[in-house]
Amino acid sequence: MDFKQHITIVEDYPKEGIRFKDITTLMQNGPVYKAAIDEMAAFARDKQVDVIVGPEARGFVVGCPMAVALEVGFVPVRKAGKLPRDVISVDYGLEYGKDQLTIHADAIQKGQRVLITDDLLATGGTIEATINLVEQLGGIVVGIVFLIELGYLDGRQRLDKYDVYSLMTFQ
Ligand code: 5GP
Repeated sequence: MDFKQHITIVEDYPKEGIRFKDITTLMQNGPVYKAAIDEMAAFARDKQVDVIVGPEARGFVVGCPMAVALEVGFVPVRKAGKLPRDVISVDYGLEYGKDQLTIHADAIQKGQRVLITDDLLATGGTIEATINLVEQLGGIVVGIVFLIELGYLDGRQRLDKYDVYSLMTFQ
């Protein structure tokens, strides 16, 4: 299936010069959304995944349906202050300034096999921070899945220790 035709490129959003990849047009088409999730789940099926972890908010869009398809749990990674129980956290760099991601401290057991998901790989900063949280808790990252990879940025090199799959690449 040609998934790319279901992604809308929005020029100059959120600021001038950015060509934003809007995934909502893919999500709002049921059969296409399902086909995308099925294909990403196929990558993960032989990896004996125990749990899927994804950062808010679009990591949930990919990770939750994959978790249901693979019959494993889903663990959310969220911005500081959003999770209600004990958390561990990591600071990560944004284009301007810093932000913090958190995960419930009891969400992953040592040695669990973890698949990480997000909608889009750009510089890799968000996923690197998510990996950091999983590994702090003793999880083993067995794969990382994206709907979209931006091939003109260095995200994949940054993740070269890991098994990375993306459904689509934009050059
Ligand atoms: P990175 O941390 O890899 O530089 O940026 C990836 C994060 O930014 C992802 O969590 C993703 O949701 C968001 N992001 C950056 N650019 C885009 C884009 O063009 N489209 C969408 N849907 N998300 C983007």
